[in-house]
Amino acid sequence: MLTVEEALQKILSEVSVLETETVPIMESLGQVLAEDIVSGINVPPLDNSAMDGYAVRAADTKGASEKTPKDLKVTDTVIAGEISKKEVTPGTAIRIMTGAPMPKGADSVVQFENTDEEQRKKSSPDKPVTQVGIFEEIEAGKNIRLAGEDVKRGSVILKQGTTIRPAEIGVMASTGRAKVIVIRRPVVAVLSTGNELVEVGKPLPEGRIYNSNSYSIASLVKRYGGIPKILGIAKDDEKDLVSKLKDAQDADMLLTTGGVSMGDYDMVKDILARDGKIVFWKVRVKPGKPLAFGKMKGTTKDGKPKEIPHLGLPGNATSCMVSFELFVRPALLKMMGKKKLDKPSVPAIIKDSVKNDAGRRIYDRAITEKRDGHYIARLTGPQGSGILTSMALANSLVLIPEKVENVNKGDTVQALMLDWNEEVDI
Ligand code: AMP
Ligand code: MG
Repeated sequence: MLTVEEALQKILSEVSVLETETVPIMESLGQVLAEDIVSGINVPPLDNSAMDGYAVRAADTKGASEKTPKDLKVTDTVIAGEISKKEVTPGTAIRIMTGAPMPKGADSVVQFENTDEEQRKKSSPDKPVTQVGIFEEIEAGKNIRLAGEDVKRGSVILKQGTTIRPAEIGVMASTGRAKVIVIRRPVVAVLSTGNELVEVGKPLPEGRIYNSNSYSIASLVKRYGGIPKILGIAKDDEKDLVSKLKDAQDADMLLTTGGVSMGDYDMVKDILARDGKIVFWKVRVKPGKPLAFGKMKGTTKDGKPKEIPHLGLPGNATSCMVSFELFVRPALLKMMGKKKLDKPSVPAIIKDSVKNDAGRRIYDRAITEKRDGHYIARLTGPQGSGILTSMALANSLVLIPEKVENVNKGDTVQALMLDWNEEVDI
C-alpha cells in the first residue's frame, strides 16, 4: 500500500497546469496570473491633495501660528475630478478637496483644521470665504500625494504566477485594466455511486440514504477554485455507470464516490481498469484507504483522444472529504498554476488519546485553537468514517503517524488546518 506522500506524488505527476484564458478582472479572484501586469499610467495620474484644506505656497506660511495667523486671499475652490484654472500666486490660496489635482503655483496643503475658515464661516455664514488665516508654518510638499507614488507608468505591478486576491483586483482596476490573462479553472465532474442513494429534496424510502457526497465534494471543488459539474447518482450497475461517465468527457478531472471497496457491487475500479487505467488503489491512510486513482479515456470536443485523471474517492462521507483534502485539493491547485499546495499545519497538544492499531496514517477530525500561546487540539467526538458531523464540527485534521501505536493526552501532534477558528466561527 502506498503512503500518503507516494500516492500524492503519483497523482501530481499525472496532472499538469491548464491553459490560459482571458477573463474580466472580477472573475479572476483566486486564479493565477499568466502575464506580468504593466501599468500604462501613473497612479495617481497627477499630484493631488491628501487633505481637505487650502493649497498654498509654503513660503507664505512662514511664522504662522494660531496667535499670529497669516492671512491669504482665497481665489478659487477645486474639487476632486476637476482642475483649477487659477494659479496660486504669493499671498493667495485655493480651497482644495481631498483627491483634487494641485493647482499651479501651490507646493503644499494646509488642512481646514489649521485655518480660521470655521470661525469666518460662523461669523458671516452667507458670505463666500474670500480670505483665510493660516495657523501653521508648513513645509513644501506637505499633504500632497505625488503623481506615480503608488504605481509608476511602465512598471510591472503584478508578476506572472501571482494568485489574485481582492487587493490585486483593486490594483489592476486602479490602472484601468478590465481584463486579465489567467490560468483557467479546472472543470471537475462529480459522480456519486450507490443503489442506496436518494437525491436531496425527495422522500426517503426505507433502507435508503441521501446522497451527501456530491454536495460536500462539489463544494470543496468550488472552494478551492474549480468548477464542479455534478453528474448525479449512478446505480451500481455497469450500464448506468458507463452511461453517466459519458458526461465527464469534457471535464479536466473526474471524481467518483463509492464503489471502490471490496463489496460485491464496487465496480468503479473495475470499469476504470477496463476503460482506462488504474495507477494505484489503496493508500495507507485512515480514513480513506480504498482510494483509487487512474486515467479515464475520453475525447476532446474536437474528437481527439484524451485522458481524464480520475480519483475514485471512498463512499463513506467523511473518508471522501478527507481524501479530497489530502489528494484532490493539491492536484486542483497544481492545475490552476499554484505553487503552494499544502494546507498550513501547526504543532498542537492533543487533549484526547488515540490508538493506532491499523498501521496507517490517521487523520482524526479535531478543533484546534490557540490557548495561552499554544495550539490545543480536541477530537470532535466519534471518528467513524461515516460520521460526517465529525467533519462539520472540526476545523482541522490531527495526524497520527503510521508507526505510532498510541498517542496520549498531552502529546504533541501535527494539526492540518482546514479552517482557522480566528476566521470561522466553529
Ligand atoms: P461504498 O464504498 O460504495 O461501499 O460506500 C461506503 C459507504 O458510504 C456506504 O455506507 C455507503 O452507503 C456510503 N455512501 C456511498 N456514497 C455515498 C454518498 N454519495 N453520500 C453518502 N453516503 C454515501
Ligand atoms: Mg457503494
